[in-house]
Amino acid sequence: MKRRKVSSKNFIEHIIDEDLEKGFDKKKLKFRFPPEPNGYLHIGHVKAICLNFELGKKYNAPVNLRFDDTNPVKENKIFVEAIKDDISWLQYKWEEEKYASDYFQQLYLWALELIKKGKAYVDNQSTEQIALQKGTPTRPGQNSPSRNQSPDKALSLFIEMKEGKHPEGSMVLRFKGNMSSSNMLMRDPVLYRILKKPHHRTKDKWCIYPMYDWAHGQSDYIEEISHSLCTLEFLPHRELYNEYLNFVYTKGTKPKQREFSRLNLSYTVTSKRKLQKLVENSFVEGWDDPRMPTISGLRRRGYTPTALINFAKAVGVAKRDNVIDASFLEFCAREDLNKKSRRVMVVLDPIKVIITNYPENKNETLLTENNPEDSEAGEREIHFSKELFIERNDFRETANRKFFRLKLGGEVRLKSAYIIKAQSLKKNDKGEIDTVYCTYDPLSLSGSGTEESQRKVKGTLHWVSQKKYVKIKVNQYDRLFTNPNPDSDKEQDFTKHINPHSLITNNAFAEISLKKAERGTIFQFQRQGYFICDKKSTDKIKIFNKTVSLRDTWTKNEARPKNSLHQ
Ligand code: ATP
Ligand code: MG
Repeated sequence: MKRRKVSSKNFIEHIIDEDLEKGFDKKKLKFRFPPEPNGYLHIGHVKAICLNFELGKKYNAPVNLRFDDTNPVKENKIFVEAIKDDISWLQYKWEEEKYASDYFQQLYLWALELIKKGKAYVDNQSTEQIALQKGTPTRPGQNSPSRNQSPDKALSLFIEMKEGKHPEGSMVLRFKGNMSSSNMLMRDPVLYRILKKPHHRTKDKWCIYPMYDWAHGQSDYIEEISHSLCTLEFLPHRELYNEYLNFVYTKGTKPKQREFSRLNLSYTVTSKRKLQKLVENSFVEGWDDPRMPTISGLRRRGYTPTALINFAKAVGVAKRDNVIDASFLEFCAREDLNKKSRRVMVVLDPIKVIITNYPENKNETLLTENNPEDSEAGEREIHFSKELFIERNDFRETANRKFFRLKLGGEVRLKSAYIIKAQSLKKNDKGEIDTVYCTYDPLSLSGSGTEESQRKVKGTLHWVSQKKYVKIKVNQYDRLFTNPNPDSDKEQDFTKHINPHSLITNNAFAEISLKKAERGTIFQFQRQGYFICDKKSTDKIKIFNKTVSLRDTWTKNEARPKNSLHQ
């Protein structure tokens, strides 16, 4: 797959540069990343994080981490901590950790001012009634009977709301916008609702909570954010963002909201709410299940910060929503892991090899490179013996000339060891191949300097000694959804497209060095792919999760049977 061209400047940078040319003080540039702590961050957030923090680096400007915590029903501290962990893991550093809830008092005071200026009123109609009066984009809305309420009346009702004198859902504070605006969001939007729920930070202090639109721009203003970047669904909110700011603004930086496209990835969903559904209904083991597109899932799958950031940078910042092929994310992982990961030999689906002319009790310790891409990575010992394992699909009883692996009468080199020739085989009761009897050429040892060691044979196979190996558990994955766009049909529940065979776990035979593998280390299982030692590994059993295969097999196999597992 070709690397995408990365343009030197994105459209947000053009906007910032224009502002600077018009005289905006460079020292006043400031950005923020504003997640709601209602779930774990996902690959889409990597794009928003990367955009904001890279702007911070480029313009030497601070970037705040602001939790938009205006809905206590869904938010909690666990998500706050997970979000902080993920951003730190990506190696980005925020200037200040802020919370919209830090500003509840100030927002309340500003709401009182709005009311006094006759710009807000308390509406005690039901949500349904309010919705009915909203009209349509082409038909103006109807005024609420409370719209002409006096500021004094509105003030006393709002204070009663704050004091908990009214039940949840009984009334809201609304902004007096424009009931015939073509922008539906301007039709007297709700500023505050009553929610008698404790908040993860303010506890029981408040029972009225500001709506996102009332909190967001004002939080930006308080923090002196110069450019408030959000995804395209907020474009219609921009008018309201500016309208509210006009009321509260007195001096300093007036934040500017600009929108960029959401990142969508094929074969998955990128919305915290939807990911939550997968967790709650046990479609996956948790937020960090390696099949999840969450940052923590991708990390547990073996993705590196570099792979994710390179991906986000290559995808770029555009003004139109798009779906990125999941294969491109995998390509970015391969590129990085190829440079960094140590090679090891693991046989995933074994058949036995017996080398008939190899001495009975001989065991050889051979040396092999840890990573041909990295001269600093050194060498390690591997163990050779008369009895070995090779991969079942590396052997065929008969095969045509194009099959360069082992076949009866054919030769292959065993990686970093000898050339062997298959002579005969034994099958089990079910007719499956159990053992291949081979002979070896004792002079063909790789690196031994003999003429035979230089002899070229077409195939090289990985192998593991039957005398010295460690049994490991290997998790391999297929796409989590069978549909490239599981979210496209709004009528249908996206979980209908879940692939029931997205996880396959097997035992495998690994070279002995993996006995000491540490959790979180990523290896290249030679000729197979990249695998990370999972956090659940113990001294007794090491568990590995497959990050990605060595080559892209997905795009080539579009017509593959739905439930098959491709490596
Ligand atoms: P929810 O499903 O709860 O709305 P969300 O996925 O939209 O969650 P937020 O916490 O609302 O996440 O988003 C935090 C920031 O990340 C926002 O600025 C938002 O615009 C941005 N963001 C969210 N999803 C994406 C995405 N898929 N691509 C790019 N940016 C995103
Ligand atoms: Mg959102």
